[in-house]
Amino acid sequence: MGKITAIILAAGQGKRMNTAVSKQYLMLDNRPILSYTIKEFQNSSVDNIIIVCGNDDINFCKQEIVARYNFSKVTHIIEGGKERYESVFNALKVCNDSDYVLIHDGVRPFITAEHILACIDSVKKYSACVLGVPVKDTIKVSNKDNYVVETLDRTTLWSIQTPQAFQFNKIYDAYEQFFMLENRNSTDDAMVFEQFNTEKVKIILGDYKNIKITTIEDLWIADTILKGKNRNLKKD
Ligand code: C5P
Repeated sequence: MGKITAIILAAGQGKRMNTAVSKQYLMLDNRPILSYTIKEFQNSSVDNIIIVCGNDDINFCKQEIVARYNFSKVTHIIEGGKERYESVFNALKVCNDSDYVLIHDGVRPFITAEHILACIDSVKKYSACVLGVPVKDTIKVSNKDNYVVETLDRTTLWSIQTPQAFQFNKIYDAYEQFFMLENRNSTDDAMVFEQFNTEKVKIILGDYKNIKITTIEDLWIADTILKGKNRNLKKD
């Protein structure tokens, strides 16, 4: 079987959104974005949930999100770090009795319990897996003056999402080694895994609706996705 822990990251300050409130706490149809995200994990087969947030938001998360929506699987609400990878490592340190971890951006509220299940099934088979969708645009690489130096073959390109799921020991060891580097940089967890493991990370087909709410335009898209979801619920 194996214990499965979800780590939900909500310690970012959301500077690209330009709002007073961090994006994970903005309201979508009268509920904080983060509450939609946690709900899907609460309704999935993960055993427990760790929320990582800013030190000043720990009480808010406890009272206004976890207690208010009765998220009984949340076992820890801990403080994040300055960088995303620091927030992840803080969480990994408190789940050393887990066999598998699913690391998810709190600002991806349209993850579904089905995709969470697909990650759980796959991580048991492959040790490391990520959700992703084929890119729709042509991707070009530029030099620093914005002249194109290369056009990549689109058929091999994926836009990678979260959750990213790993065997606990392997991702923990990778993060430990990553933190020993003098110059470190990472934008996702698979990147850390890839640096220190010979095993390949498996990509699982995700959903274009699993957007990361980053800028104000994403909020408009989120409203539309939510309306569609509510309409479907009424039909069921
Ligand atoms: O900044 P980015 O878009 O990569 O953030 C993705 C997720 O990581 C967000 O949910 C954000 O709250 C979280 N994060 C974090 N700690 C940081 C930076 C980002 O938990 N220091």
